[in-house]
Amino acid sequence: MGNGISGHCLCGNVAYEYLGEVGPAGYCHCEDCRRCTGSAFNISVRFDASKFRIISGDPKGFTKLGESGNELTRHFCPECGSPLFTSSPRHPDCVYVKAGSLDDPTLVRPEHQSWTASAVSWSRIEREIASFAKGST
Ligand SMILES: [Zn+2]
Ligand SMILES: [Zn+2]
Repeated sequence: MGNGISGHCLCGNVAYEYLGEVGPAGYCHCEDCRRCTGSAFNISVRFDASKFRIISGDPKGFTKLGESGNELTRHFCPECGSPLFTSSPRHPDCVYVKAGSLDDPTLVRPEHQSWTASAVSWSRIEREIASFAKGST
């Protein structure tokens, strides 16, 4: 522990620390990201794998070939199911951390989006939609 960047899952069982530079964030619209997040798209931040470590809990990994043909392992909390990060043998030097798991969300700087051909129409929030600053009424 130190002055690193930290993050954790919803229940707090799995926590991580990162002592490197925060890479750019990217949106991914692929079908696998839609399914594993349960949302319209995934947003992940690139971290240097050698400076990233799990400091509590034991995330479970699920490996699947992506639409790209690359093997991806998605790591998540076995207690609450929160998706936490993705790793790939093709890029062993990096981990792609789910943006929403960071304790300081202001560190997230999206610079690109990928698999836009798979994007769903509801990935964009229309300005006119009913909006509530707090809660849902
Ligand atoms: Zn959890
Ligand atoms: Zn994806």
